[in-house]
Amino acid sequence: MTHSDNLPEEQKVFTCGFCGKTHKEVQVMIVGPTPDITICNECVRLCLGVLLDKNEGKTIPGEVPK
Ligand SMILES: [Zn+2]
Repeated sequence: MTHSDNLPEEQKVFTCGFCGKTHKEVQVMIVGPTPDITICNECVRLCLGVLLDKNEGKTIPGEVPK
């Protein structure tokens, strides 16, 4: 990410596009090419679990922890 404008960091709130938590509620927020695309470390972990569990022809039902 590049240094953009002069917005104070504290005013930027990144919300995870998956679970809706803000970057203040999670350890790491990964921001995509645009600030609209974000995912937190918790959801990355969830996705990783799905990817690692994925077997041929086997689909994993969406498990979204609340
Ligand atoms: Zn998340």
